[in-house]
Amino acid sequence: MSGIPNVASRPRIVKRKSSTQDVSVRKAVKKEREQTRSIAPRTPILDAHRGITQAELEAKAFRYRQRNPRDEDFDKQWLASFSGKLSAEGEMIHDFRCYVVGCKQVNKRRDHMVVHIGSHLNQRNFKCERCPSSFVRKNELNRHERSHEAARPFSCSHCPATFRRQDLLARHEHNKHQPGKENARKKVKTCT
Ligand SMILES: [Zn+2]
Ligand SMILES: [Zn+2]
Ligand SMILES: [Zn+2]
Repeated sequence: MSGIPNVASRPRIVKRKSSTQDVSVRKAVKKEREQTRSIAPRTPILDAHRGITQAELEAKAFRYRQRNPRDEDFDKQWLASFSGKLSAEGEMIHDFRCYVVGCKQVNKRRDHMVVHIGSHLNQRNFKCERCPSSFVRKNELNRHERSHEAARPFSCSHCPATFRRQDLLARHEHNKHQPGKENARKKVKTCT
């Protein structure tokens, strides 16, 4: 590495003349830097809108995992950088679009695009709260959750009632089948 900076990747260089100009020049340079940053937040992927193949995306994901071995999920900013509001030619467009070559996905919402890019990488953002399963898409999780609803593995040994959870069965057995409970409840109201 020589000491020569990579001029191409930097904002336009403005010549210094007087100190009064200096302030406005610094402001202009700062503004330009901010604009550059807002196009590609915290990532070096400046030309993503030109298109990235699925294989390239997976290769980047592999390197991402090597850099961040402890991250369970990909960073949202990182995922979002493979979508945006630029056409392949660099013109501004109305909605976000997926920059993966051949993918036609568009969406008004950035967070939906984050999920979408994650789906290219099999990222399972949708996690079941009742078991360790997780899913790429929301409708897959919904379907899975309905299977939990339907499953009532805990059955009462005294009657045909079934329950989704052990504690619900225990409550049922305590309330309905505790010996002498029903009779006792009718007669005495001050039990503990
Ligand atoms: Zn896509
Ligand atoms: Zn589950
Ligand atoms: Zn029962």
